[in-house]
Amino acid sequence: MAIPWKEECGIFGVYGHPEAANLTYLGLYALQHRGQESAGIVSSDGSGLYAHKEMGLVSEIFDTEVLKRLPGRSAIGHVRYSTAGKSHLKNAQPFVFSYSKGGIAIAHNGNLTNARTLREELEKEGAIFQSTMDTEVVIHLFAHAQISPAVERVIAALKEIKGAYSLLFLNEKELIAARDPHGFRPLVLGRLKKGYVVGSETCALDLIGAEFIREIEPGEILTINEDGIQSFHPFPKVKPKFCIFEFIYFARPDSYIFGHNVYQVRRELGIQLAEEHPVEADIVIPTPDSGFPASIGFSHRSGIPLELGIIRNHYVGRTFIEPKESIRHFGVKIKLNSVKEAIRDKRVVVLDDSIVRGTTVRKNMRMIRNSGTKETHVRISSPPIIGPCFYGIDTPTKEELIASSHSVEEIRRFLRVHSLGYLSLEGLKKCVSPREEEFCYACFTGEYPIKAPKEEKIQLNFFIKEV
Ligand code: AMP
Repeated sequence: MAIPWKEECGIFGVYGHPEAANLTYLGLYALQHRGQESAGIVSSDGSGLYAHKEMGLVSEIFDTEVLKRLPGRSAIGHVRYSTAGKSHLKNAQPFVFSYSKGGIAIAHNGNLTNARTLREELEKEGAIFQSTMDTEVVIHLFAHAQISPAVERVIAALKEIKGAYSLLFLNEKELIAARDPHGFRPLVLGRLKKGYVVGSETCALDLIGAEFIREIEPGEILTINEDGIQSFHPFPKVKPKFCIFEFIYFARPDSYIFGHNVYQVRRELGIQLAEEHPVEADIVIPTPDSGFPASIGFSHRSGIPLELGIIRNHYVGRTFIEPKESIRHFGVKIKLNSVKEAIRDKRVVVLDDSIVRGTTVRKNMRMIRNSGTKETHVRISSPPIIGPCFYGIDTPTKEELIASSHSVEEIRRFLRVHSLGYLSLEGLKKCVSPREEEFCYACFTGEYPIKAPKEEKIQLNFFIKEV
């Protein structure tokens, strides 16, 4: 189930292939789950940059005509997560700028924690910003650095910023990829017969037949140009802090990131959950789609058969028009519906990956109960979320996170179910062992590896009409 969190994005880039824009389109298509608000591609033909970006899904934005207008042997692309309400084309990426040495495009997945402070300083010095995105700060810092080559400018800019970033830069001659020193967000490198690819997850490499070479390391900067690949490690080494939520919810199960296959980790979460919270029940049912792998693990360990008790409508897109107020109570059934015949008169365990506000889960449970279950039990394949994320996912505020102010028993009553069991933090860590110390668990512990910003949201104090 999707709720409107923001800023989780996907990035993809190709260097040295005659079909760079087409391949980037396919790569973004595979990464669509990381962002459905807007998408964009910037290509380079060696002498200029060509850009196209729009609001909407990758398949809605790009067709053969648009892709033809993106020539050249290298390209980068970006998909941005859906937000509730109005969203702005001016915030769609990649951003393209020209500076004293030519053009530069940037695509960012992550969230900078000191962007506001940096932006205020830059604005005092006369910088004019085009968007409200933290990413733009990086480009201003890049342009300010009076050095060349481009990678030195990138390093100078990145030395100023704090937070989470997997970044792609493209200029006329090269593609530069960078990952923050903690490596919060994933970034992988692959090889094509002709050229190289970089992207958020390996599922995008698979789609275009690229061979996975390796993950780009935390704190590593790569340049890919006609001399090949060069690696830089300009930052002092710090402990990796890979985002555990990529495994719980975001990344695609067929991807390999942070040293693990996502499906296998999620299946382990389900096994662990069955050990921690056993239950007498007739069937296990997953909440589509993110609940599937953990349900398989839970069913496997508990011996309780898996059934499809909830079906998801996969065609609910951005184009869905909210019906009139009078019939809005259809609510959750727009996306999910129960298979009454499969769950009626049964003791049912419903698996979901996480509880955020608790509101959609509550509606789902009402739907399940109304389908005539004998008992309804809920098992969650992650610990209670008690704190917002400042490293790439614009989560609700702490107050809106139900587990930040309610006990498990209170949440159980709110959901109106017979039992509720969350995976423990220790259990979660077991599933990514032996690298468990390399992950960020801040949303479950409130212990933030980089100081949380006080008020980093940038407000526009003027109005721009988009035409
Ligand atoms: P809620 O009812 O607000 O607790 O939402 C829980 C549901 O949201 C679960 O089914 C999760 O799969 C899903 N979910 C968790 N994190 C996110 C996210 N960042 N974006 C969209 N959906 C999410």
